[in-house]
Amino acid sequence: NREITTRLAEENTEKAKFWWDCYRRLIQMYSEVVLGVSASAFDQILTNWKARDGVKNDSELSVKTLQSIVHDFEASVQAHGKTFPQDPWAQLTAAIEAVFRSWNTDRAIHYRKLNNIPEDWGTAVTVQSMVFGNLNENSATGVVFTRNPSTGENKIYGEYLLNAQGEDVVAGIRTPKDIQNLKKDLAKSCKQLVLVLEKLEKHFGEVQDVEFTIEDGRLFILQTRTAKRTAAATIEHFLQFVKEKKLKPERALQKIEYEQVKQLLHPTLKVTEQKPMARGLPASPGAVAGKAVFDPESAVIISRSGQKVILVRRDTSPEDIMGMAVSEGILTSTGGMTSHAAVVGRGMGKSCVVGCTEISVNETLKRASANGQSFSEGDWITLNGSTGEVYLGELPTAPVTWGKTAQMVFSWADKIAKIPVYANADTPEQARLAIELGAKGIGLCRTEHMFFDKERIKKFRLMILSENEVDRKKAAESLRTFQREDFVGIFKAMKNLSVCVRLLDPPLHEFLPKSENKEEIQILTGELKISESKLLLRIQQLHETNPMLGHRGSRLGITFPEIYEMQVRALAESLYRSIADKNPVVLKIMLPVIFSELELKVLLLNLKKAFYEQLNELTKDRPNLLKACEKAVKWGTMIELPRACIVSKKIAPLVDFFSFGTNDLTQTTLGISRDDASKFIPDYREQGILSVDPFETLDQDGVGKLIELSVTEGRKANPNLDIGICGEHGGDPESVQFFRKLGFDSVSCSPFRVPMARLAVARAELDGLKF
Ligand code: PEP
Ligand code: MG
Repeated sequence: NREITTRLAEENTEKAKFWWDCYRRLIQMYSEVVLGVSASAFDQILTNWKARDGVKNDSELSVKTLQSIVHDFEASVQAHGKTFPQDPWAQLTAAIEAVFRSWNTDRAIHYRKLNNIPEDWGTAVTVQSMVFGNLNENSATGVVFTRNPSTGENKIYGEYLLNAQGEDVVAGIRTPKDIQNLKKDLAKSCKQLVLVLEKLEKHFGEVQDVEFTIEDGRLFILQTRTAKRTAAATIEHFLQFVKEKKLKPERALQKIEYEQVKQLLHPTLKVTEQKPMARGLPASPGAVAGKAVFDPESAVIISRSGQKVILVRRDTSPEDIMGMAVSEGILTSTGGMTSHAAVVGRGMGKSCVVGCTEISVNETLKRASANGQSFSEGDWITLNGSTGEVYLGELPTAPVTWGKTAQMVFSWADKIAKIPVYANADTPEQARLAIELGAKGIGLCRTEHMFFDKERIKKFRLMILSENEVDRKKAAESLRTFQREDFVGIFKAMKNLSVCVRLLDPPLHEFLPKSENKEEIQILTGELKISESKLLLRIQQLHETNPMLGHRGSRLGITFPEIYEMQVRALAESLYRSIADKNPVVLKIMLPVIFSELELKVLLLNLKKAFYEQLNELTKDRPNLLKACEKAVKWGTMIELPRACIVSKKIAPLVDFFSFGTNDLTQTTLGISRDDASKFIPDYREQGILSVDPFETLDQDGVGKLIELSVTEGRKANPNLDIGICGEHGGDPESVQFFRKLGFDSVSCSPFRVPMARLAVARAELDGLKF
């Protein structure tokens, strides 16, 4: 307080300047933090006095000027209707209360939400005695990391200021010096600091972020904590620690955060002050910026001119695929974590924000708005697919890193894991990416995704719109070459690994042209050689009220057998070609949306007949090849309906494997449409009814119980039954641990989530163990 400052300054005139500087700092910081007086009031006073005295730094101010500044500071606090208390105890208690109050600021609440910090933890207050980096030129203060938090380099990294307090470093009033210069300025303290840093890092087994002060040549450590680093730096540091024998690989694997694994693969946003315009579901990670476009055609045209675009839609369908493929990212105002946009976006590795209900999208006017802000076609927007945030403008991003270090660290995980991680991949490119990211096979190849291409979708529509068997067979056959080429490409990429191909599962509505799209209707009438009215009638006939529960999955195989037959014939041809080329792939053929053993029996009977007929014909004079092909094929079913779980003991003896389709199983067990979930799940989470989105993390109490029943009954009826999962939960760490506990033989997820799943399957083995 003023009295103590005056006395101390009088007793030791040499230090008078120092004591007055301390007092003005106390008034300034206390008034800002405790009394809520804005910082700018004090900054202005300080700047004015420095200008009047013609000095650059605070440390050059005279005692007299500092006394005047204190006077002006006190007056300024008064002018704000506040009082700076002179009783030190009153100061202390109010300061403690201010720290407790800070727990409930908007910023703190938001931070807790982002980092999953429970509301009821509360904060603690530490009261420390003060040391003074602003005592003289033999004093300093700074922040130092034991290793580089940005690049990962094993070299101390930080900044300091001579004759200053910590606030000066943060406030940026003076430019701090690189820590490498400390040796020249304060050699003895620097040597000591380096020793302490080594000790702290060893003690905590983590790279540390340390605040220090040197008071008249004596070093004090104010605070140390685990350093916040880029994902790349963190991984690099784990590798260094393991090499230095400071950490066991098992412990390193336990320490890696899943969030950081996500960041390793995608560009991230540089730290920004800008507030997001809206927030949706973080469907596919990565930070991207581009010009907003509102339809796939514009996306293609604009991107062709070399410009980056972000496709903004209410929702997406296969018609949008070309637009999605050329976009940097995808933003939809509806849909959940397993909606078309989310699944396809993730598969393509596109940054994707879905279910952003705050934004209203007007596709006709090519304009979107939310929270009083808006953008139109051509305006720059930035998506952060890792957080679901949408920003106006082009925000700077940090580049992607998935190099040798990550490969090394993840190879430790593979050694510990007991089950392989497969990838959901539909094209040879995705298959290659999956391998690069460590997948040991393909757990789900969604064949309907192979028809998104403009030429193919036309033929595909011909097939589903055909009115009779002959036309349908002809249309299906025209797709066989494409199918064969794709399969061969995928098998080649996967070499001797296994590939699970799922026969068509298109909710038909996703593939039908919209009757109002006149241009497409016209093209189709030409191709189908029928009148427009007849075509519109056919579209109307195929229209379904509830397509997700409609004519999809194996039901298509029952009513239109020629479609599945074409697919298995193409598979037989591809397998034959692959094995003949000494590419010993393992082929798994899988049926979707099965609910009964009879349904499965009928299908398997027809399909096996067609498959082996084709194979026999191809290997007529090569019995060894036939044998090798027969050995390389397995037949299985997806389990994605509650009834399929319940009758598993009847289904299991008919197949070699089960693969749980937890997207549909969640949809049908909870009775929540996966495409509409985002409209109300956030409210359920807000009100604490659901702690997580069940389409993201498996509902173990409900869906999990059905899976458990299915596994137990299925294995009892068929002890050789191979069990896997290919729903999106296959990439969710918590769900993966659950599947492993149930004795699954593999998990499968989108390529970009493979590293995370690799870590999760390894962690499942390390669960509860100390290293
Ligand atoms: C599933 O339902 O979990 C699944 C993998 O199939 P899809 O997402 O293609 O319906
Ligand atoms: Mg499904």
